[in-house]
Amino acid sequence: MMGRECPKCELVFNIKPGTGLKGEDLPCHCAYCGHIAPHNQFFTKAQIEYAKSVAVRQVTDKLHRQLKRLEFSHPPRGPLGIGISLKVTTRPYPIRYYGERELETEVVCDQCTLLYSIYGAFAFCPDCGSHNSFTILTKNLELADKMLALAAGVSRDLADQLIGDALENVVSGFDGFGRELCRVAAPKATNPAEAEDVRFQNLTGARTRVQKLFSIDMTTLVAANEWEFACRCFQKRHLLAHKMGVVDEDYLQATNDRAAVVGRKIQISPEDVKRLCAAMRQLGEKLVRLVMPQPKASTPLNTHVTSKENHATDN
Ligand SMILES: [Zn+2]
Ligand SMILES: [Zn+2]
Repeated sequence: MMGRECPKCELVFNIKPGTGLKGEDLPCHCAYCGHIAPHNQFFTKAQIEYAKSVAVRQVTDKLHRQLKRLEFSHPPRGPLGIGISLKVTTRPYPIRYYGERELETEVVCDQCTLLYSIYGAFAFCPDCGSHNSFTILTKNLELADKMLALAAGVSRDLADQLIGDALENVVSGFDGFGRELCRVAAPKATNPAEAEDVRFQNLTGARTRVQKLFSIDMTTLVAANEWEFACRCFQKRHLLAHKMGVVDEDYLQATNDRAAVVGRKIQISPEDVKRLCAAMRQLGEKLVRLVMPQPKASTPLNTHVTSKENHATDN
């Protein structure tokens, strides 16, 4: 992994060169703020210190060699026994070695296959600029699936807990995905400030706000019965998180769930969670396509800009 530091937001991310787009002079996209510039503007402070120390070392070594040639030694002579000598002692200039930092999340871009790592979870691909929100959503849905597989081989109480956790994971995964999507797309929303803070833990509420901000009706992106089913699952998550999983009047009013009885525990099957995963995948994929701004094409930068920037860095 090679460290990169954004000249604009000064945050650090790592890339594995050669795993993504092929070509010369391709620009680098900041993983966090999306700033686009030539790669030679993304050196980390440690890399610059290292390069500087190597350059200084080369100059000082050369200087030392020249000084060394001036050394002489005349032994004591004559009636007074005076000798004279010049001895040059030098210490090599220290090289500032560095190691790249280990960051929190490794991502493989699903558009260009670049391997990169970041702090946090959401980012733009440094090579192709596409946002990883859908990749992260998919990761969360896969995790829920693994939890269901685990639940299949354990006792009833533990299985119920795991299935509930899997459902909560799907909802929180979609909530994180939706929030990030709105945040990144905020500049093109009717009210950017409001778009920075859209919650997706309640699908009905999210639908209203997404429609107002982006003129997209989420109910049209999946089949009507799947939308209704997803809304019910999200309400079940609310019961799990805040009511110990016990059905209340609010739940019945919000969902019209005829199988539920007030005061009893809500029923969640592994099939429910799997069906919800499929619906969220479909909804997420369509939302990304409609809401997320498309990355600017990664075309090679012209050489004039590159050489000019080189010059600026040297100064
Ligand atoms: Zn940045
Ligand atoms: Zn990419």
